[in-house]
Amino acid sequence: MSNLAPEPEFEQAYNELVSTLENSSLFEQKPEYRTALKVVSIPERIIQFRVVWEDDKLQTQVNRGYRVQFNSALGPYKGGLRLHPSVNLSILKFLGFEQIFKNALTGLNIGGGKGGADFDPKGKSDNEIRKFCVSFMRELSKHIGADTDVPAGDIGVSGREIGWMFGTYKAETRKWEGILTGKGGTWGGSLIRPEATGYGLVYYVNHMIEYAGQGSFKGKTVAISGSGNVAQYAALKAIELGATVVSLSDSKGSLIATADSPITPEDVNAIAALKVKRQALTDYQGKHKYIDGARPWTHVKVDVALPCATQNEVSKEEAEALVNSGARFIAEGSNMGCTQEAIEVFEANRREKKDAAIWYAPGKAANAGGVAVSGLEMAQNSQRLSWTSEEVDEKLKGIMEAAFKNGLETAKKYVKGGEGEFPSLVAGSNIAGFVKVAAAM
Ligand code: GLU
Repeated sequence: MSNLAPEPEFEQAYNELVSTLENSSLFEQKPEYRTALKVVSIPERIIQFRVVWEDDKLQTQVNRGYRVQFNSALGPYKGGLRLHPSVNLSILKFLGFEQIFKNALTGLNIGGGKGGADFDPKGKSDNEIRKFCVSFMRELSKHIGADTDVPAGDIGVSGREIGWMFGTYKAETRKWEGILTGKGGTWGGSLIRPEATGYGLVYYVNHMIEYAGQGSFKGKTVAISGSGNVAQYAALKAIELGATVVSLSDSKGSLIATADSPITPEDVNAIAALKVKRQALTDYQGKHKYIDGARPWTHVKVDVALPCATQNEVSKEEAEALVNSGARFIAEGSNMGCTQEAIEVFEANRREKKDAAIWYAPGKAANAGGVAVSGLEMAQNSQRLSWTSEEVDEKLKGIMEAAFKNGLETAKKYVKGGEGEFPSLVAGSNIAGFVKVAAAM
């Protein structure tokens, strides 16, 4: 690929997947899947467009908008929209690539895609964000549809932005279609969608804890990074199940609590209100210690670590600190939350230390609950029905259990040299997701 521009994040995600496939017996058993790998590594289509909008001073502003329609073997392209100044094609290709296999692991009929823009919602007024969303969807509406491509939220896009975009789609096309998920409850959204990624993550990790014979979340100490939608609901569900949450963070720093005076649901709700106003954790006047510029991992001693902020938020050194402090479970609420070097630290520890090791679960399995409930929202929209919270939550639990077991059993089947007590969930999930897509292609 030397004639192409470098795409570091995409190459990282691609190499991570390929390294686990190569270390398994998959290609010996299915040589034709080598061709499938080549095919799946190139997006079916990439749409790039300019987004022109007017700021509050009536000045013209312009951003780059994208939609990567990566793979539709299993169903309509599905995946979020990220609004963040870091957004470029490498980041959206990495996210879209991960999304293909994550979506496969949900067991639902959804393909993989991702989109967004290099627009920074921070420091913008509500009116400016609305104007951007309208302008963005004016172009995107030409390329999506309930049976072709169904975006949702991601970093910088919540129910409010989805609402502005949904209204624009309707105005442009004169159709009410389930072309976005994460909609509001009064206009076609699914119950439990806002909670789904965080809840699903906790359900998944609970299976890891049970399988390891370590009980459940009850009594466990948990570090969480991030303070957005994923982190908030992961914290609330972990607390509900009896765990002690000792951290949250944002791009500026970390809130570190003690086990005696942990993060409470009241803290989480107050922080959620702050984040709606796009304020930083520095504005939170809670009783917990705040460490400027830090991520939680080297400041905590916990049983469970849940990175829920963004990609590459756990370095090799931080992974070593977690292992040395005795953490036993790490699962990504974010996409590619751990660097490749960090994953290698966790995987080496798992292979060597056996029953007292740390066990790592990748985002494409552990955070699949969000897109899974998006898939359930699509099903409800198609049926013109709304399911109850209990129904959706039950289905979410079933999907997370199946994703966990699928990764586990697939690792036992394909990973060379036997997998000892705790099979590699990263290898197993990668292989399971890939096999499903390759077979469909
Ligand atoms: N952005 C979420 C993810 O990374 C959800 C995507 C969706 O619901 O389509 O999986």
